[in-house]
Parts: sequence; C-alpha cells; structure tokens
Amino acid sequence: MTDEVTQLPRLTGPQAFLPGDADDAPETVVRPRPDVARKASQAPAGAPPGSGDLTDELLTSDQWTDAMLAAAGIPVFDKPLVSVGGGIGSFVTVDYLRIAGVSADRIAVLSNLDFAWQTYEYLTRVSQIPRPERIRSDSASRPDNIWGFPSYALAEAIADRSLKVLWQVLIEPIWADYYTPKAGRVFAGLEREASRIGWSQMLVKGQVRMVRKRQGAGYFVILTPPAGTSPTKRVAFRAEYVHLAVGYPGLRFLPELQDFRTANQDFHHVVSAYEEHEHVYSAARTKPIVVMLRGGGIVSSRVLQRLMDDRANYGLQTEIVHLFRTYISGSHGHNAWNRRKGGNGFAYQGFNYPKSVWGGQLKARMRSLEGEQRAIAYKQMGGTNTPWRRRWQAQMNEGRTAGWYRTLSGTVESMRLDNGKIVSDVKTANGMISIAADYVIDCTGLEADISEHRVLADLLEHSGVGRNPLGRLDVERTFELRGASSGPGVMYASGATTLGGYFPGVDTFLGLQVAAQEIADDLARRGFCRRIGVARSVSQWFRWANNKQP
Ligand SMILES: Cc1cc2nc3c(=O)[nH]c(=O)nc-3n(C[C@H](O)[C@H](O)[C@H](O)COP(=O)(O)OP(=O)(O)OC[C@H]3O[C@@H](n4cnc5c(N)ncnc54)[C@H](O)[C@@H]3O)c2cc1C
Repeated sequence: MTDEVTQLPRLTGPQAFLPGDADDAPETVVRPRPDVARKASQAPAGAPPGSGDLTDELLTSDQWTDAMLAAAGIPVFDKPLVSVGGGIGSFVTVDYLRIAGVSADRIAVLSNLDFAWQTYEYLTRVSQIPRPERIRSDSASRPDNIWGFPSYALAEAIADRSLKVLWQVLIEPIWADYYTPKAGRVFAGLEREASRIGWSQMLVKGQVRMVRKRQGAGYFVILTPPAGTSPTKRVAFRAEYVHLAVGYPGLRFLPELQDFRTANQDFHHVVSAYEEHEHVYSAARTKPIVVMLRGGGIVSSRVLQRLMDDRANYGLQTEIVHLFRTYISGSHGHNAWNRRKGGNGFAYQGFNYPKSVWGGQLKARMRSLEGEQRAIAYKQMGGTNTPWRRRWQAQMNEGRTAGWYRTLSGTVESMRLDNGKIVSDVKTANGMISIAADYVIDCTGLEADISEHRVLADLLEHSGVGRNPLGRLDVERTFELRGASSGPGVMYASGATTLGGYFPGVDTFLGLQVAAQEIADDLARRGFCRRIGVARSVSQWFRWANNKQP
C-alpha cells in the first residue's frame, strides 16, 4: 500500500454507498467524486441569515452558539448521542449502548444508508463475495452479537444439522482452512439484531455536512436531509456525545490506471474490483480473453477465484496475468520465530493482522507504543496479505501447469491502447516487458487520505483534532478523538479512519466491537449508560437469544 495514488474517478453504480462525501446529493443520484468535493477551506460564501442554510458566521466559526443556529433559521433537534455514518461501525456501537441500557429515543444515527450493512454488502458483492460465499473474518466475529456466542460455526452446524464445520473449527488452521461464515448468514443476523434494537427508529436519513463544537457543551451535527423531506436545506442535531464511523474516506486508483482511464475515457476495460465489473466475467463467457490482475490481497484472490471457477464451470479459455508490485517468494519476517508464510507472489495470513492483535500480546503491546515506534510496529505486522486456502492453491497450481495463469513482478511504467488491447509496459528485474490484455482489474483497494472526506476535513480544520502516526484520526485508547472534547461533551471515532491508533484491528467486525466496548465503558464512567458487568451481560444474552428488546 505504498504506491503513489490518485483519486478513483467516475465510479458507476456504487457511488451512493461509497464513503466519499457529496454535499447535498439526493440519495438516488451519483455522488460527486471525493477529489472534486470542496475542502472546508474553500467553502463557498454562506447563505443569508434565516434561510435555513449555513451562514458565513457558521461556516467560519470553530464554536457555535444556539443563537447562531437560530439566526441562520436551522431547526435544532436534541439527541444526547449521535452516531454519524450508519454502517457496521455505527451499528455495533449502538448495539453495545442499547445493551448497556440506553433507550432508542436517546440515540440518533445519521446516515445515507438504508440499512447498516448496505455498503459492506455492496463492496463484498462486487469484489466477488456474494451472499452464498464466505467472508474473511472468523467464527466468533459477530457484529450482530456482542458475546460472539453462539459462534457462526455453531449456528451453521445447528441450521445444517451437521458437525462438519465444528470439526473444521476444531482442527483449523493446521489440518483445515480457517472457518469463515457465509456473507448471507452475516446479513441475516444483522437484520435480526437491527429489528431487535430498533435501528430504524434511530436512523435519520441524510448527508452529514459537518460537526462543530457547541460553545460550552457538546456539539452540533449538521445534516442535509434528502430533497423534499425537510422545509429547510439543513437541520442540526444538538448532542452531548458524537460518534463518527464514516468508513473509508474514499478509494483510489494507481496513477497509471487513472491516467489511462482519463486519457482514453475508458471506464470499461480498466476497472476497480470495488466497482461493478460483471461485464468482464460476461465477456469471458463469449470469447477467450486475457485479464490482467493488479494487487496481492484478498480481493485479488477472490477475483482470481471467480475467473478460475468460471473457466472450470463453463469450459472457458480465459488467460490471467497477475502482476505483483511486491512479489513474495517465500516466508518472510524479521526473526525465525515470527515469520509470515508466502509464495508465488502472495503473503499468506489467515486474517489481515495476526490474531493476537484483537486480544492477545500484540494488543497489549500496541497500547503502550507511541509515535514512530507505533508506526514501525504497524509496518512490521501489516502489509497486503491473503489467506492460504486449499481450493485457491489447487486452482492456481492447475493454471500454472497449463500455462493460463502467469504471475509477474514489477511496476507499470505506462499503459496504452494497441489493436484494441490494453498494453502495460512493465519494468521487471529482467528489463521491460509488454503485456497485452483485454481487461485490467485493479484489486489494490488503496484508500484516500482522511481529508478527502468532507466531514473529516472540516473537523481537522475547525475542531482541534489531529493525526496519528499513520496520518489518520488521532484517538485515545477509549476511542475519544483527541482535541475534540467540548465541555462535558466527547466525540469518539472508530473504523478505518482511526487506523494507526493504540488498537490496530480497527477496520474489522471484531475491531469495531472492541472500539464499541471501549466507548460504552467510557460512557458508563461518564454516567450516560450502565456498565455491562457480568449480571447485565448474562441477562442481556438471554434477551438476545430470545430475540427480545434489550
Ligand atoms: C470488500 C471488503 C470485505 C471486508 N470483509 C471483512 C470481513 O470479512 N470481516 C471483517 O471483520 N471486516 C471486513 N471488512 C472490513 C470492515 O469490517 C467493513 O468495511 C465494515 O463495513 C466497516 O464498517 P464502517 O462502519 O467503518 O464502514 P461502513 O460500513 O462503510 O459504514 C460507513 C458509512 O457511513 C456513511 N457515510 C460516510 N460519510 C457520510 C456522511 N457525510 N453522511 C452520511 N453518511 C455518511 C457511508 O454510507 C459509509 O458507507 C471488509 C471490507 C471490505 C471493503
């Protein structure tokens, strides 16, 4: 993930769910690209007082008063806690708070999503994990169940009346691949939990524009409701506590892919794995094609699997050229006892970090590291990797033997169109090689800087929050945003925007739950909710099991 990057342009279809931040876009239209989203510093002149929109005074002031909002004519709603985002991160945090005794009418979730797993389901589906396929995380990572019991494997074993997956969990990862749940099971569980905790009661649809401190206490969160649903362009939520879980600030393309797409206006033959790209698989079913894959993470494994499955299932002649920028040819790492397996280009790891990051010695160690030391530790344990799965290995071996799957290590110097093919000029250790392909699929999944997200850019400019050693939002061990407190008010953040903090696994279901637990504990200390001690936990688990409201 060290490549220099440029912004992903013109996504088709998924924009409504991608995390870039359009300002006032109605929910159904394509969202503007994050790269053209205006930065707070270039904000336009404010609206006239009384218009129900942001005035100059509001746009330029770091702290707002109730009188300033009244003068702007923006209606204000009171909610003690507001969660911004409404994806999985908001969901697990609100789930914890509901279990800790906070009633649904004290929480508002502000989001452009209809349901919490909408972005996740979109991204997994296009990157080749439809509902029947298995996701990456493990059996106990249940975003719909804070106890992780019964685990997904146990639930699947009971539903299927089969001990097969329980046996797999028992002998994994030595004698079997890690068990991971099917995406469809995860979504069904989330749907059940959403209705149990009253998610739709708390959900307020719209685009969050900014969060500013309220003079003396708490915050104002400005929401642009969907067109036609509010008499004013903006509404404000006055909250004592704010939680930010806005997901990825944006996704990016490698510069040469971006240049090619822009120069040739070709958004069809060079695609991102995070875009709808079903047409590539359809084309492979009509004629023999060459597909070039870029990237060595789990998304490239998934796309590869789809191409290989289709080849086998429909007797296709698809050829695959897989380009790795960093080619891993064997086990690698700093010391003999702590090496990561690798081979044929890939670095292999069951989950995106070593498991002890979520609850073992690495979690404890990371909590004590600051600054540069923490950045180095992230570098050592992170990096692009993918699980070693028996099925993928067998398919790739077959492809290598038959010659239809080839790997290559190098960097692309340029891309051009030649006779209807996309030719990539690749600099390798043995000199320049030109590869001609019908389609290029970018699986690198590079993320944009947090300042590409309008709400975060505004926070960086107006609230006093800073960046952590990896350049993302700087949070305390409790996930409180440093520098953002406002009187007794506290702002928290969780998810990908906080990567680089004291807890590394933030952008995972379990990581979002660890963050949610820290936030709930902190809020309990502040008297906002009850502490989830043993008695409460046990009684609440029975309520969960019986599908009764918390
Ligand atoms: C392809 C893929 C597969 C993954 N698989 C796994 C897995 O198997 N296991 C695992 O543990 N983790 C996995 N993850 C990582 C992570 O768990 C998910 O990405 C998860 O959805 C992150 O939750 P989130 O709340 O941070 O982001 P999201 O679920 O994306 O929610 C944030 C949402 O906030 C909304 N939003 C943003 N800005 C605004 C605004 N200004 N106003 C209103 N709404 C806004 C957007 O709709 C955005 O989608 C995967 C990630 C990807 C991309």
